[in-house]
Amino acid sequence: MHLLTISLVLTLSALCVAQPQGQQRPFAAVHPSNKNNGEYARFDNEQVLRVQISSIEQLKQLEAIVENKNLDLWSNLRIGTVDVRVPLSELEAFKAAIPFPFSVMISNLQDLVPEEAPAATALLQNNLKPWNFTDDSFWLKYHDLATLNTFTETMVNQFPRIVTRTSLGHTHEGREVFGLTIHRYNRDPEADDVDSDDKDDDNELDLEDLIEDLVKEVRTEMRSWWSWLVGFSKSQKKSPKVKTILLHGGQHAREWIGPATVSYIAKELILGYGVNKKITQAVDRYDFTIIPVLNADGYAYTWEHNRMWRKNRQPTSIPFCPGIDTNRNWGYKWNHGGSSGNPCNEAYRGPEAFAAEEPTMIANYILRKKNVVAYLDFHAYSQLWMTPFGGDCSEIPDDDEDIMEGGLGAAKALMDVHGTKFAVGSICKIIYQASGSSVDWTYAEGGVKYSYGVELRDKGLHGYMLPAKEILPSGQETLAAVVHLANFIRVREDQWGDKV
Ligand SMILES: [Zn+2]
Repeated sequence: MHLLTISLVLTLSALCVAQPQGQQRPFAAVHPSNKNNGEYARFDNEQVLRVQISSIEQLKQLEAIVENKNLDLWSNLRIGTVDVRVPLSELEAFKAAIPFPFSVMISNLQDLVPEEAPAATALLQNNLKPWNFTDDSFWLKYHDLATLNTFTETMVNQFPRIVTRTSLGHTHEGREVFGLTIHRYNRDPEADDVDSDDKDDDNELDLEDLIEDLVKEVRTEMRSWWSWLVGFSKSQKKSPKVKTILLHGGQHAREWIGPATVSYIAKELILGYGVNKKITQAVDRYDFTIIPVLNADGYAYTWEHNRMWRKNRQPTSIPFCPGIDTNRNWGYKWNHGGSSGNPCNEAYRGPEAFAAEEPTMIANYILRKKNVVAYLDFHAYSQLWMTPFGGDCSEIPDDDEDIMEGGLGAAKALMDVHGTKFAVGSICKIIYQASGSSVDWTYAEGGVKYSYGVELRDKGLHGYMLPAKEILPSGQETLAAVVHLANFIRVREDQWGDKV
């Protein structure tokens, strides 16, 4: 790329980020990712700086500087450390402007970004050798959307008695958002959508709960083995209202560890059913619906055009600034702070709640199912296990004690695998106000008691450019957390009779 082009890109990238609420100024010019003319976007000499913040006043000061200079926040705004991507053209001015200590986290971002679009490389490699999805080899590298979709379709076809394909709809660019539902042997999770309020079904569930109380863990395991051997399933009869645990990655396109981790969890739940006791207990009790990539358009864009893309790809009121931040567009206390009204901003909340197709798909799914007991939305990075709320920091969930207990247990189970530490707490408490995010809506409007937003590895050494060698450990530890959480909910429901 010519120097002139680079300087144009850097200048334009500086124009396209945050606007403080109530301080609207003319929207920025052209987003760099639209000016790459088919090339993969470059980030020569851009740095990611880690700024130390010790008070709310300092945080607000940093927020104003970042928004004034239109910079890309990599981490959430919070007291502690905040990571900011700064283009070369702004670097000296930014370093001079911030009165806080900082260190250089990434000295030249381009060193970590491929020269060529990785989608082209993936296509070549995938044509050479078919993947084996039943060992760990698939999770030694990141995969593009097409390859992740092949994984999902293959698991559906290969394990039809415990895996069902689940489709949520299509994105603006026409990509299907889909995943799989893992369920106990020969159950049809789609059948729950019919007569879901049927009183007989409720009675069946109560009876089933009673039976499961009596048979306890040994019988459960024996039944699972029996199921594997002969295809036995009492659920061949009219479906009882089995509850759903819903997981997805990829709301934010550049956070590649999310889709990688949840696809690994899907594989392990499928292969572990009837083999691993805790997995079997969880899958016997709950359907696990897993959508590897929610923001399919944005994810594809990171593989084809710009590794740093975060939002979806819907048009906005500014023709050269497409994309809504899907995780600022959910409909509970939307636009209550911590989001931007600037379409060129990475945290653009959209013109109205649920203007973005991706959160709307998930919300419709939850409202249609009426039985989602847990929701986990996987992001990167910072190692946080977050609970509602983030939109209104004076609001505390009625179920806060249970939600926190589930989250703390999950973080402990996660740490027991590789020693990785996650902080647990509400969005407001452990980061900062961020309205229009998924878990606020899923808890308050979707009726999902156990709603969590998870920021996966790392704590900033590589940020979004997490090396592929960390996919497997991330998958292994997060699997432990999810399985723990499912069994925590199962035991809690048995103890207290909690209902959706
Ligand atoms: Zn995210």
